[in-house]
Amino acid sequence: MQSMLNLAPADFAGLRYPCSCGRTHGVDIQKILIESGCIVKLPEVIRELGGKHVFILADNNTYAVCGEQVEALLSENGITHHSRVFVSETPLVPNEYAVGSALAAMEMEDDMILAIGSGTLNDTARLLSARTRLPYVIVATAPSMDGFASTVSPLILDGMKITIPAVYPVAIVADTAIMKDAPMPMLTAGFGDIIGKYTALADWRLARDINGEYYCNEVVELVEKAVEKCAANAAGLCVRDEEAVKAVTEALILSGIAIGLVGVSRPASGAEHHFSHYWEVIALQNGEEHPLHGNSVGVAAVISASLYELAKDELPENFVLPDKAHIIACQNAADACVDPKALGITKELFHESVLHAMEIRERYTILRFLDHKGLLPAFADILTERFYGETV
Ligand SMILES: [Zn+2]
Ligand SMILES: [Zn+2]
Repeated sequence: MQSMLNLAPADFAGLRYPCSCGRTHGVDIQKILIESGCIVKLPEVIRELGGKHVFILADNNTYAVCGEQVEALLSENGITHHSRVFVSETPLVPNEYAVGSALAAMEMEDDMILAIGSGTLNDTARLLSARTRLPYVIVATAPSMDGFASTVSPLILDGMKITIPAVYPVAIVADTAIMKDAPMPMLTAGFGDIIGKYTALADWRLARDINGEYYCNEVVELVEKAVEKCAANAAGLCVRDEEAVKAVTEALILSGIAIGLVGVSRPASGAEHHFSHYWEVIALQNGEEHPLHGNSVGVAAVISASLYELAKDELPENFVLPDKAHIIACQNAADACVDPKALGITKELFHESVLHAMEIRERYTILRFLDHKGLLPAFADILTERFYGETV
């Protein structure tokens, strides 16, 4: 069997791979399309997967992008369908209302769920799919986050962000000709979520070296290769170059697949994600808006890489640091944010998050490493001064 490294993202559908790490990795997604114009293949995909009566979930924005086109394609091909389109001025929140209202719109005859969107609609459809045991297909409209190929739904229930185990989509249809026209903050968010893999992978290496955690070299190389392709195309993102958008889309889908391959989110998420979640949780508690997940992750990758740089004399011998200068250069090339202040994070919240972001979850990262060494308070002061220009 050829190495995973040589597979195109679409080839991961249905993969069973005996890996050099000693495990057999698997992917339970049956169809992955990442191409320009691939939306026209949607009826074929649905039919192949047995869909005859399809429940379409969209919001007014994603419906405007390709909802009518999807409905027309299904009608032309004799696939019965009906839609629930959420209409809202503000972004749809993945809460009890979204889940309950979508469920109430379903019909007894439905045999497939089709979400048109990215974050929230995908997360809602994933949970519905898990509870109704109907397969779901995602038509991606924006390369904004890495949850397309994921098995968990992060939802806001009773005002708290929680992650519920759910299911994979049976198919992902990512038409890059559609996705390239997504709002620019969504493009940079997807890019930032990918750049965050540099520090996530550093945290995985650290956890292996310090705690002897399971680590898969092939999966790491796979993610690194996808990230490098995005980095090389960074400048193209600002001008909506389709190749750059495709690189980001592929990397986002691959990083979800990588999580599925190893059964833990190590290949995709480390301290940079804990910062992002911490800021989001505080914003939710205060009833404030927060940046898009990936835009926070991109900035937090700079912070995490800065912590590694400060800690370099304490790290295990020959430990390969995440390259802070490269991370900043990538974010700058894509015209994405590198500064927590510019992201809207207050100085107080920033300082607090360096000290407490690790409490978001029980996971070994550079933050816990520094905490064990007693260095976190001093480094929090150094970085707060660096980013906010005055001592605390
Ligand atoms: Zn492996
Ligand atoms: Zn992420």
